[in-house]
Amino acid sequence: MNVPFLDLKAQYQKIKKEVDQAVAEVISEQYFILGPKVEALEEVIASYSSARHGIGVASGSDALMLSLMAVGIRVGDEVITSPFTFFATAGSITKVGATPVFVDIDPKTYNVDPSQISERITPKTKAIIPVHLFGQCADMEPIKELARRYDLWLVEDAAQAIGSDYIKDSHTTQRAGSIGDLGCFSFYPSKNLGGFGDGGMVTANDDELADRVRLLRVHGASRKYYYQIVGVNSRLDALQAAVLLVKFHYLEEWTEKRRENADYYNHLFEGIDHQALDIETPYVQYRNRHIYNQYVIKVSKRDELRKFLSREGIVTDIYYPLPLHLQECYRDLGYGEGDFPHAEGAARETLALPIYPELTKEQQEYVVSKIGEFFHSFVP
Ligand SMILES: *Cc1c(COP(=O)(O)O)cnc(C)c1O
Repeated sequence: MNVPFLDLKAQYQKIKKEVDQAVAEVISEQYFILGPKVEALEEVIASYSSARHGIGVASGSDALMLSLMAVGIRVGDEVITSPFTFFATAGSITKVGATPVFVDIDPKTYNVDPSQISERITPKTKAIIPVHLFGQCADMEPIKELARRYDLWLVEDAAQAIGSDYIKDSHTTQRAGSIGDLGCFSFYPSKNLGGFGDGGMVTANDDELADRVRLLRVHGASRKYYYQIVGVNSRLDALQAAVLLVKFHYLEEWTEKRRENADYYNHLFEGIDHQALDIETPYVQYRNRHIYNQYVIKVSKRDELRKFLSREGIVTDIYYPLPLHLQECYRDLGYGEGDFPHAEGAARETLALPIYPELTKEQQEYVVSKIGEFFHSFVP
């Protein structure tokens, strides 16, 4: 049996008529940059994320960079983030001239460990970027408390977490993108809401911050050819917005399917006694709404397992094989192996299994039975 990691062609077949029509409309209008389609998307994403404003930008990476520019992060500043994330989280900090300061992750959620943040705060620290990795919100309450106490900006990297909820207690639910000062989303094709190319969005509750991001994405021009500040060119285009508006109608359904698939994997893993086999399934903190952009297990012999599954027709992926503090480009930050044992452990032992909405029960049963087979073949 073949199990791809993601099946965007299957998704497209289901919505082909609607998407093709939306794209054809943009082409016949010949209105490509920003405009009414982008504004419509900004409205639905902001509202879906419980934020007042949405600002469409060229990518999730730019959403992060523009957010840092908007709150005035610059040369000499320090920004705290996780070493176990996609490169853009830290790259955006470096791009504005500031220094990323890494804090190890919680080995259960893979999100930044709030209890280790305060020891990294210095007079130069200006912001924290918690990452809602794999689709589960970082532990935002203690992080918000630190941001308040030390007067730091809070920028959420919600690129993998559209529609994810942080549940603080039985009566407080907060949605990814509305918890910090600014929220950053990505419409990269593999995200839960993916376009036909690059795209991103910044969400904000504060009017002034939103205006600033809106200014920065058009070179800092408040009206054409008059520049208030120096910004960049980072606009969402109408073709992407048209595709995303169609797909948005299916987002909840697709995310629910991912959540069901995750539950089914958990159930199947119980059947093969995953604890005895040393397989850790995803841990959901309290009652968070995890949206499973990735379903990530932790296993020793990860690389051998991955090879075995690949031979059996099952495609998996590794997010991420080398933590950011050990990347060549960050050598001069002075970190070394052993500095963040949990991030390093996760990079060594985690494996992402196919979790996309169109995945069938039979495919999931096949995946888990093959994993069981792999481990039993190791038992002496
Ligand atoms: C995808 C992603 C980004 C960047 O998004 P792009 O749209 O690819 O630039 C940033 N952070 C995380 C955690 C991501 O997964």
